[in-house]
Parts: sequence; C-alpha cells; structure tokens
Amino acid sequence: MEKKYREINELKEACGVFGIYGPGEEVAQFTYYVLYALQHRGEESAGIAVADGKTVMVEKGMGLVADVFPNQDKLINLKGHIAIGHVRYSTTGASELVNAQPLLYRYRGGFLAVTHNGNLTNSKELRYKLERDGSIFQTTSDSEIIAHLVALSGKKDLVRSLKLAAEQLRGAYAFVLMTEKSLLGLRDPWGIRPLSIGKLNGSFILASETCAFDSLGAEFIREVRPGELVIINEDGLVSEQLIPSRGEKLCIFEFIYFARPDSQFMGRNVHLVRKELGRVLAREHKLKADLVTGVPDSSLSTAPGVAEELNLSYETAFVKNRYIGRTFIQPDQIDRTAGVRLKLNPMNSLVEGKKVIMVDDSIVRGTTSLRIVDKLKKAGAVEVFVLISSPRITHPCFYGIDTASKDLIGAKMDVPEITKAIGADYLGFLSQEGMLTATGLGRDCFCTACFDGCYPEEIHFRKQKHLFGDRY
Ligand code: AMP
Repeated sequence: MEKKYREINELKEACGVFGIYGPGEEVAQFTYYVLYALQHRGEESAGIAVADGKTVMVEKGMGLVADVFPNQDKLINLKGHIAIGHVRYSTTGASELVNAQPLLYRYRGGFLAVTHNGNLTNSKELRYKLERDGSIFQTTSDSEIIAHLVALSGKKDLVRSLKLAAEQLRGAYAFVLMTEKSLLGLRDPWGIRPLSIGKLNGSFILASETCAFDSLGAEFIREVRPGELVIINEDGLVSEQLIPSRGEKLCIFEFIYFARPDSQFMGRNVHLVRKELGRVLAREHKLKADLVTGVPDSSLSTAPGVAEELNLSYETAFVKNRYIGRTFIQPDQIDRTAGVRLKLNPMNSLVEGKKVIMVDDSIVRGTTSLRIVDKLKKAGAVEVFVLISSPRITHPCFYGIDTASKDLIGAKMDVPEITKAIGADYLGFLSQEGMLTATGLGRDCFCTACFDGCYPEEIHFRKQKHLFGDRY
C-alpha cells in the first residue's frame, strides 16, 4: 500500500545541503535556521552534525525541520564551531531514519560526516565492489559510498583519499562533509547539483542555494566550481581542483522548479529567470483569455511573466494552505480528495464563466495538470488553457530528480494526446530554445537530458542492471 501510494502520488526533489565553519561560534543554531530556508528541497528527513575540533555529534530524524527539532533541546547538546545540515528527499535508498543525513562514520582517519545532494549513477557497481571487499553498509543510500571509498583508500591525507574516491564516482553530487576539524565541499565534474560559498563575518558557509546565506545575513562569495574541493579549517579556505571539470551542466530544473525564487545560480536570480520563462512561453503561444493564473509555488513567478506579455490580468486563482506539508495526506486516508482540496483551493468567483490560462512549471506524469484543470472547470471556468514553462519531459533523470522510474506522459504521448489526457482545451510547452534563451545563459551551461536525452555522461547502472539486479 505504502509503495503504491508513493509511486502514484509522489515525485521527489533534490536534497538541501549546508555547512558552516565559525571559529568561536556555536553554529548549531545557524544550521537550524538555514535548514528552514532549505526546507523546500526535502521534507522527508532533517539532521545536523556538529564538530568541536575533537569529536562529532549528530541529531537527525524523519519529517520536517520543525518535527525533528521541535524545540531547543536537541540543539543545546550540539556544541561546536563546525556544523553540517541536510534536508532529504530519498531518490535512492528508502525513506527511513537509517538513511537520514548527516551520515556519521569513524575510521582510522578520524570522524567523517557526510551530506549529499544528487545521485550517483554507478552506485550499484561501486557498492557491489565495496561489499565484495568487506565493507558493511549501514544504509541503502548511495551517499554512504563516499565514506567507504575514503576509508578504504589507505591514504592518511583526506584530500588524497577524496581524490581517489571522486575519481571513481559517476553521476551528480554536491557533498558537504565534515571531520572533527574541517568543513569540506565537493561538486561533481559537471556541476549538475548546485553548491555555493558564503561568508558571515569570520565564518565560511556552504549551501545548495544562496537563499541560505540571505537567511543568515551572510554574503555570497561564489559557486563551488565543477570538480572543485574546498576545505575550510583553521587555515581559512583552501581550494583544489580535485578532478578535472567536464564543463558546467547545472540541472536546469533548479531554475524551472526546485530552487527558491530568491536564490541565484550563475549570477541569475531564480524569480527573474522564471518570469522570463513566462514571457518567452507567452510569445510562443499567443493566446486570448480572460485571465492568467499559476499553480503555486514556482508558477507564482512565471505566470505574471505570461500575463504581462499577453497583456492580460494575472490572478491568484488558487489558495494554497501553507500549513499542510506533503506528509499530511496519508496513504490509508480514504478521502484523499478532501486532503487535496484542503491543500489547494480554487477561487470560484474569479474563474466562473472565464477563459483561464493556467501556468505550471512541468508535466511529469500529468497528474497535477489533470487535477488542476478539473478543479478550474468545476469552479466554473469555461475554457482552460494550460501553458507549461518547460519543454515536454521525454527522458528519465538519473541525477537526483526522481523521474527515473516514473511513467513519463511526455515519453508516451504527443501534445494533442496529453491535452486530451489532462482535459485541457489547449496545451502549450515552452520550446527548449525558448527555455535556454530565458535563462540568459549559454546552452552549454545546463543539463537538459530530461528534455532531449543528451546525458552529460554514460549511464553506468543501466549496463550493470543484469549483474546487480534490483538488489539496491
Ligand atoms: P505530475 O503531476 O506528475 O505531472 O508532476 C508535475 C508537477 O509536479 C508539477 O506541478 C511540478 O511543479 C511538480 N514537479 C515537477 N518535478 C518534480 C519533482 N522532481 N519533484 C516534485 N515535484 C515535481
């Protein structure tokens, strides 16, 4: 029942990673604040690990940050000037406490605490080899692999160990790691998952999104470069190009959907890029309607762009109940529909008798669009035109967005068929060219594999499936 529910109803997102090195500060509290700012990147589990120069402690649990840290009790125990934090959606490994991060290890080199955003594409292969050589894994998550690779490297120097490990890893990763004395950040050679460096007085900070820096009043310094390792300790920040960069291929879904609108990547503010996505989308589909509305939250930036370009009024036709998390609708609840209505309610008086343009960021399986079109029609809209601010998703993602095993409607149907399937009167996707233009950045800057099948690297685990089956 649980599995079926999850397959049908959930899509997973990226995770959020964070780290701070604050000499003379108690940094657990900062980490706690930042996890709130990164909560949108993962609602399944949350955790903080803190180091004081000698030892490392960790507190983690299932659920939202507020569930895991309901009061100061756990934070008070986390004493030290170095901390890492994580919010998780499981893209590999089950959604259970054992897989919650930070993961903490003790090996002959000392402590190593691990947080990871992304997906390793050769995790089955690596895990198979590591287990064959005697490693005993504590979790089913691919994030654990780096710790075993470091421990087995036989090198005393952590940087050398990490280099040997990184040379074996394939896929997407933004790691924020911590020893008892240092904070480290490592990004995959394509830079598929984001990681930035910030500074707050004497403290250095690493985070998936720059909104984390804003939440602390910290200053953004720069992004960690693809393949770069940054090490922060009593000597300050040192950087090393650990493995050669293969070019920049940031997941374009960060701009389309994942990131908070107040974050920035490659010098571009997410909200402004979304608004531009909306403008280009409207130029590609010159529709006549009475109003434009967006599905919260990502389209609250995009839909106004559509409306401005079409000279139509933008209306907030849906009210989202912000107090209901994803965990609210339980699988065994008979009346799930009531839950859905509680979460997102259309304003009948706005849409009654109107032709409505409904903007959303993407169609994966088509379930959201089907539901939203239905809601608008039931609320009295005479026609519903759906505009999507990304191209048709035709290929699975293996890099941390959980569309690998999903039933991609865009892979099975063409646009007229999808239009019919979601019950819309019109459906328009943004072209790939239009999407790239709207970012204002070069086409080489992004991984667009889910739209065009051009994966930055070979997909190892497909080839390995016959060898490892579905064991992991
Ligand atoms: P679907 O309902 O399966 O067509 O999924 C599309 C909806 O899910 C859109 O409204 C998106 O805002 C949202 N979405 C897209 N990608 C993801 C993802 N990886 N994780 C969670 N939600 C997503």
